[in-house]
Amino acid sequence: MISFFDDRQLGHAPTQELHNGGWEPYNETAARATDIASRLVDMRRSSDFGIDPILAVHSADYIDFLSTAFRQWQDAGRSGDALGYTFPIVGRRPLNLSRIDARLGAYSFDAATPIAAHSWDAAYWSAQSALSALDHMAQNSAQSAFALCRPPGHHAGADYMGGYCYLNNAAIAARQAQKAGMGPVAILDIDYHHGNGTQDIFYEDPEIFFASIHADPVADYPFYWGHQDETGAGEGIGTNLNIPLPRGTDYRHYQSTLGTALDAISKWGAKFLVLSFGADTYAGDPISEFQLQTGDFPRLAQDISALAMPTLIVMEGGYAVDALGENVGAFLSGFGHGI
Ligand SMILES: [Zn+2]
Repeated sequence: MISFFDDRQLGHAPTQELHNGGWEPYNETAARATDIASRLVDMRRSSDFGIDPILAVHSADYIDFLSTAFRQWQDAGRSGDALGYTFPIVGRRPLNLSRIDARLGAYSFDAATPIAAHSWDAAYWSAQSALSALDHMAQNSAQSAFALCRPPGHHAGADYMGGYCYLNNAAIAARQAQKAGMGPVAILDIDYHHGNGTQDIFYEDPEIFFASIHADPVADYPFYWGHQDETGAGEGIGTNLNIPLPRGTDYRHYQSTLGTALDAISKWGAKFLVLSFGADTYAGDPISEFQLQTGDFPRLAQDISALAMPTLIVMEGGYAVDALGENVGAFLSGFGHGI
């Protein structure tokens, strides 16, 4: 399988995050990407498709914020990473505030997403990797391709960052695939955590189907999205499928749930699949609680591949860095074209 990546994605390096009441070293490290990259045989450098496909998903004011926040943080005399400490309660009226701290709060939903010196560049190139993999599929009628996206994207909404995510790579690729006439497009999210940003972006859109299998948000991040009764709104009712699973879920239960999601995608009439793949469903993941083993990943990939639908695989989470390359390689091997 052909993969896409750009070295500029490695420049993003926040130092710490707030977790369970204390500061921890930042979990979403560049080493994640280098470990995955070391396993990929045919990896190509991403091309630049510009800002327009990004603006087809994200609001212009959010992109302005993201691309200028670190400079504004430094102009305010701050050292370290830019991080908000005040967040607006849902329903507060929108205000056009200019102080960096007010902007950081307004455009994020948690304190896990600091902006460091090269964060914008890395996020931009992560999105370009998704677009490059998509373009490769379009140009060559390829059945699959892998975008080594880092930072990940599925927690980022149209105008907010969160959960290590800045730009929603899967959503950007899905919109572009739709625009290129490759659809109808479905997005399947199999990261351990619910893809709240992707859900929000397409929640009222009847033309893109979103399905997610994830840890029950009653007990796990991102808590406020991912519940079973969230099925879409307005014209998008019925095009959002959430399947929350309990902590401790193993392969047997996970595989039958995957079958349910794949059936729904098929019945809806999708012709192109964007797969948000997180390897944090692995039993050894330090921040997650499912029980999948390395040998389970190719079997899950085979089930997805059996749909016989062109599939763009977009990297999301996975934090057991020592096993990450092996798990991603195992997953990609299940698509049957080597890695
Ligand atoms: Zn995750």
